[in-house]
Amino acid sequence: MPERTPLDRVRDFFEVNEGYRLDHAAFEAERCLRCQDPVCIEGCPVNIPIPDFIHAIAAHNMPEAARLLRTANPLPAICGRVCPQEVQCEMLCHMTNRFRPVAIGALERFVADWERDQPVEQISGESTDKPARPARKEKVAVIGAGPAGLVCAGELARLGYSVTVYEGLHAPGGVLRYGIPEFRLPKDILDWEIDMLKRSGVEIVCNVIIGKTLTLDQLFDEFGFSAVFIGSGAGLPQFLGIPGENLNGVLSANEFLTRINLMRAYAFPESDTPLHLGKRVAVIGAGNTAMDAVRSSLRMGAEEGHIVYRRSEKEMTARIEEHHHAIEEGVQFHWLTNPIEILGDDEGWVTGLKCVRMELGEPDESGRARPIPIPDSEFVLPMDNVVLAVGTTPNPLLVKSAAGLETTPKGCFVAEETSGRTTRRRVYAGGDAVTGAATVILAAGAGKRAAEAIHADLNEDAGRED
Ligand code: FAD
Ligand code: SF4
Repeated sequence: MPERTPLDRVRDFFEVNEGYRLDHAAFEAERCLRCQDPVCIEGCPVNIPIPDFIHAIAAHNMPEAARLLRTANPLPAICGRVCPQEVQCEMLCHMTNRFRPVAIGALERFVADWERDQPVEQISGESTDKPARPARKEKVAVIGAGPAGLVCAGELARLGYSVTVYEGLHAPGGVLRYGIPEFRLPKDILDWEIDMLKRSGVEIVCNVIIGKTLTLDQLFDEFGFSAVFIGSGAGLPQFLGIPGENLNGVLSANEFLTRINLMRAYAFPESDTPLHLGKRVAVIGAGNTAMDAVRSSLRMGAEEGHIVYRRSEKEMTARIEEHHHAIEEGVQFHWLTNPIEILGDDEGWVTGLKCVRMELGEPDESGRARPIPIPDSEFVLPMDNVVLAVGTTPNPLLVKSAAGLETTPKGCFVAEETSGRTTRRRVYAGGDAVTGAATVILAAGAGKRAAEAIHADLNEDAGRED
């Protein structure tokens, strides 16, 4: 088991002390060196004024800390929990030269959790005002209620637009709802954030798939929207193309996690959706999705949870924290192991995973060491379920039904990074739909920048300058 780092211990402190005290947070905040050149800000994709909000905590001025945080990041309670801080803001903290970094993520979470305990009317920050009366005559539609769409919608509402978010699933939140499990991101926090958006005037319409229920053209021509933001994510799972993927007991991680988180398979038969989980579950892949799937499988009653990954531990893309938690929970790791066939019985149920051992060669196009099969090294891992967490791409449904939208060979929307402007006039895109599977804060940042661009473009159309 890897040694617990000092940073882990700080995180544990905040984890276990649900009744944490401001004194403790202020003590941690005091560690900030107040650098002349606070590079931690550059490490945050939405450039939170990190030293400022931390100093407000040190001064016990929580309303100010909350206000500063929320102006830059509309989803602080979520990012404080799931952001990969160790490779973003905290990695750049000057303290890391000699000590552990200031626990920026934990402090962000602390402030956001404090804010949630305040009476709604007293909460500071523009996006939490009472329902806004749209000041602008233009209406904007947002496709997808994940972090990109929600943040874009929130910013537009704040700017005075009437905003409608269309979500294909029956509940908003995107991956935050159906992918990231409750044990990492409690859904009441997500509900609170969404409620805040609704209070700011955002309308969310679920069970509407743009490209099927309605088309993009209809949004402009029939519904009269002046601009549309696409935040439809990258929810189409990839498969390996190996024999046996059609067997019973094989699932994509997206389906596996959706069944548990969104469809409440844990409550079956009171809920309608079963999971059919056996004793031994292999998850293929070693990203955050894989860790969430394998840890969820143990909570759903599996006796053994296995991670099977063709590269080594060094190349895994999951957060270090998630890897540690998985080890602590008894997950078994098979590094340098590539599945080549899923084996089944006469009735079509999974019985095992045939694998080959790998070694690492020169870096490939992703910059990571290329895994190479070792001849005659095949072996079988007995399994009851196989869950594939080997990547996702954007769903082509939307783009197939709309003219003028260019996509990359991987199916991602072509959009300007700074504005989200796509190849079609007054259509903007951001988040995983543009970048492919990435992170919550990157999606949130893209939604925010697109809202600013929409505002600027609609102002130009209307000959306004504000
Ligand atoms: P999404 O969150 O995918 O939301 C898109 C929404 O659009 C969905 O609700 C979808 O139903 C809807 N939609 C799609 N098509 C249509 C349509 N045609 N019409 C209407 N609605 C549509 N990131 C982190 O930073 N930290 C983590 O710890 C982390 N863990 C993760 C764990 C898992 C299991 C997964 C899958 C991802 C994880 N990520 C993590 C990545 C992160 O969740 C995503 O990068 C982020 O959610 C992308 O946001 P988005 O708004 O672009 O898309
Ligand atoms: Fe760090 Fe993420 Fe917070 Fe930015 S949003 S300060 S990267 S934890």
